Amino acid sequence: MSESTVRIGVLAPEVLGTYGDSGNALILAERARRRGFPAEIVTVNLSEPIPDQLDLYSLGGGEDTAQALAADHLRSERGLSRAVAAGRPVLAICASLQILGRIYVDAAGNEISGLGLLDLETHPRGERAIGEVVTRPLLPELTQLLTGFENHGGGTRLGPDARPLGEVLAGTGNGFDRVEGAVQGSIIATYLHGPVLARNPELADLLLSQALGQDLAPLELPAIDQLRQERLSDAGVDPAVN
Ligand code: GLN
Repeated sequence: MSESTVRIGVLAPEVLGTYGDSGNALILAERARRRGFPAEIVTVNLSEPIPDQLDLYSLGGGEDTAQALAADHLRSERGLSRAVAAGRPVLAICASLQILGRIYVDAAGNEISGLGLLDLETHPRGERAIGEVVTRPLLPELTQLLTGFENHGGGTRLGPDARPLGEVLAGTGNGFDRVEGAVQGSIIATYLHGPVLARNPELADLLLSQALGQDLAPLELPAIDQLRQERLSDAGVDPAVN
């Protein structure tokens, strides 16, 4: 393994892989390799300690029972918290957004402690949000609309230390104030599946450039542009706005 290998952790995919979010790590690795950086995906299963020295961490969504197992593991293992304290980039999707918050309440009414890495709380909304989402990103580094697919029962309120990732143009998002996702320190969290990085190369490259500590050369992939046009149109958003 060369020194410049980007090591991308996929945490607990047996329980946080339900929605295909492990694909985010594949996209990160491929986008790194196409720029000449060797990349390695490090799968960390539920029974394993979480290394705190990986370059980037990817966590996916999951159903309530699986999510509770993941929450137990992530709370008892301090590796992810240490990595966040050291400023290592983390992408957390849906159930993982909820787990990284202070607490979340599942559909059965169980209150589960989170890791407290994001200043947010999640409670059942009473109706499930399912469908295409489009947001206008609120991070200055992102200029393109974000597209994804949501499927969650929880609604999330942000506290003052977390800021939203995007302003909702279509779909539900967090369920309050027409915003979606949460950004705090080195964590970017979102309800968007897709996988989100397949649909939003700018977000993938932001995470990758943070992991590598340098700007990246552009990557022209017409198939991704086409996918974005199609998904934005499907959500009723004029792709020309993008
Ligand atoms: N179980 C959580 C909810 O329904 C998260 C679902 C998900 O990860 N898609 O809110």
